[in-house]
Amino acid sequence: MKFRSIKGSRDILPEESHRWHAAEEAVRAVMQRFNYREIRTPVFEETALFARSIGEFTDIVGKEMYTFLDRSGTSLTLRPEMTASVIRSYIQNNLGEREPLVKVFYVGPMFRQERPQAGRLRQFHQFGAEAIGGAAPEVDAEVIALSAEVYRSLGVKNYSVKINSVGCPNCRPAYKSTLQAFLKGALADLSEESRRRFEQNPLRILDSKDENDRRLTAEAPLMKDHLCGECADHFSALGRLLGRLAVPFEIDGRIVRGLDYYTKTAYEITSGDLGSQDALVGGGRYDLLVSELGGKETPSVGFAAGMERLMMALERHLAADDGPSPTVFLASADERGRAWALEEAMGLRRKGIASESDLLGRSLKAQMREADRQRARFVVIVGEKELALEEAVLKDMRSGEERAVRLDSLAEVLRDSLR
Ligand code: AMP
Repeated sequence: MKFRSIKGSRDILPEESHRWHAAEEAVRAVMQRFNYREIRTPVFEETALFARSIGEFTDIVGKEMYTFLDRSGTSLTLRPEMTASVIRSYIQNNLGEREPLVKVFYVGPMFRQERPQAGRLRQFHQFGAEAIGGAAPEVDAEVIALSAEVYRSLGVKNYSVKINSVGCPNCRPAYKSTLQAFLKGALADLSEESRRRFEQNPLRILDSKDENDRRLTAEAPLMKDHLCGECADHFSALGRLLGRLAVPFEIDGRIVRGLDYYTKTAYEITSGDLGSQDALVGGGRYDLLVSELGGKETPSVGFAAGMERLMMALERHLAADDGPSPTVFLASADERGRAWALEEAMGLRRKGIASESDLLGRSLKAQMREADRQRARFVVIVGEKELALEEAVLKDMRSGEERAVRLDSLAEVLRDSLR
């Protein structure tokens, strides 16, 4: 029987993992500059946590979660996103008691049983950040600036930041009725999905991808024009602050996001290079989530971004790098040489020098080919003769230059030539 990875999941192979490391390191570096610290939570949680926070009527909870009963009959779910887990941890560990504004980030796998299509995986990876405990628009501005900075600092140019406000419990219900009244006339002509959303989640009809829906809702009233005074002030302050922070943005009244917990700010960053699945980042403010999950009322802002999409946007920047290779390949011509190579490689590694020797009993010629394939920077060939003389030839594979080295000074010579 041949096993295959589960549909919608994929292996990150040895030849590409270094690109992931580079991207993750870049993310971590930006997070550190903004003073966000990493949080790691389990990949599974009680199902109710996600149902409660993301919302019963969202696509994620309605049809995409990997939910199962464990052997004791508890319903568990593989996390489809991180905010719920982070907030659960924030409450459980009283993180808010240690500092007034908790700034955390994460990088890791998420799971959603989505329809398989290009750019959408069932196990995918997100990085993101949450700033928990701040109501001021400065927090929204910093979070948005932070997410955009990841792309800017990596040299990704073709992206746009789009912001909107989805209001709050004071202004959204009245707007929802206004929107429903507008949509009522066209209801029969809307797509099936939008018809389904009409009662529970009519705001989402505005970001439908269906052409006909878009035409029918072209003139629909938008939340941003029906905000209460507080939400309107917050939104205009955010615009001013982003200007001050030199983060270019557009206002897009159709951004609503697929998760129920957002209040006031909702935003996205999209890429001009990714075709139909162009969303790089989604995020916003969620002032009610902490209290909804049993904590004190704690205004918060966060975002999540797709790692795979970041990697695609970075394609051109990272492709040139072939990944790590050994500093030196110790090739051996005979039995004594082989024994020496095995031991010497270990000694060099303990001195911090990446080394390789032949473990497959290959011919000298085959070892030279292998050193070349592995892009080893140097090769040393050692046999009985070299061991007797305690000296061998060190070949620089880049310049082709050869020189004699004393075997007992190999580590120093390698270190010097790498400087
Ligand atoms: P969301 O949590 O749905 O707001 O998504 C935030 C970001 O995660 C999106 O903008 C994408 O970059 C990425 N993302 C979400 N779902 C997937 C998926 N199924 N496959 C790959 N990336 C995804």
